[in-house]
Amino acid sequence: MIKVSNLSKNFGDLEVLKDINLEVSEGEVICIIGPSGSGKSTLLRCINQLEIQSGGDIYYDGKNICEKGSDLRKYREEVGMVFQKFNLFPMKNVLKNIMLAPILTKKKSKHECEKKAIELLTKVGLADKSNAMPSTLSGGQQQRVAIARALAMEPKVLLFDEPTSALDPELVGDVLKVMRQLANEGMTMIVVTHEMEFAREVCDRVIFMDDGYIVEEDKPEAIFTNPKNQRTKTFLARIVG
Ligand code: ADP
Ligand code: MG
Repeated sequence: MIKVSNLSKNFGDLEVLKDINLEVSEGEVICIIGPSGSGKSTLLRCINQLEIQSGGDIYYDGKNICEKGSDLRKYREEVGMVFQKFNLFPMKNVLKNIMLAPILTKKKSKHECEKKAIELLTKVGLADKSNAMPSTLSGGQQQRVAIARALAMEPKVLLFDEPTSALDPELVGDVLKVMRQLANEGMTMIVVTHEMEFAREVCDRVIFMDDGYIVEEDKPEAIFTNPKNQRTKTFLARIVG
């Protein structure tokens, strides 16, 4: 579904991504782990074309989306993104946050968009919050609204960049529960996370990045019980203890 081929990214002299190759099949859940600064966010941002790569290509459904003239607006509708810091529109209530993009881009009536938004809010456990302003919600609730907002575009793939890292520990579980449910429903997901239990239990494949490279990738069982690369071992020893 997504294929990243020989991708590189520089910021000035700094090489942040180096020859990244990655394939994601439909329905697959991939977790990306690795130390801070290893290039995880930059990789997700390149996949979503929020950041333009310095070299290499990205294919979606067989089409090279890095080519001139590719329909990035449509691509971003199909490949949605959820950020660490939620990025909700602060002046709009929860329902409007979810409806805004679909109303502009989908050929649906306001009524249909609203119905769908309420359905999605129910799905993330926030049916009673449609009129609330984002600032009155907890971080965990805001992140679940952000997930509902991403789902409102009916994406084929969802990218998550450390969706629980900005949350108080007691709020992490509710967000992971929603993500687990999406995974069970067959959503194709790429998740950058430090939640090793989630990675171990939910994802199909773990990718370990360090210093701009994909150092190792394998099934969670293999990565967590028998990592091959010394850098993976060191990282996991530090994070899992
Ligand atoms: P991670 O998400 O794994 O912590 P990032 O992808 O955010 O890593 O960053 C990788 C490296 O790229 C870091 O050294 C970071 O400082 C650098 N970097 C990220 N974004 C920019 C930018 N817009 N300009 C310059 N350097 C950047
Ligand atoms: Mg990051």
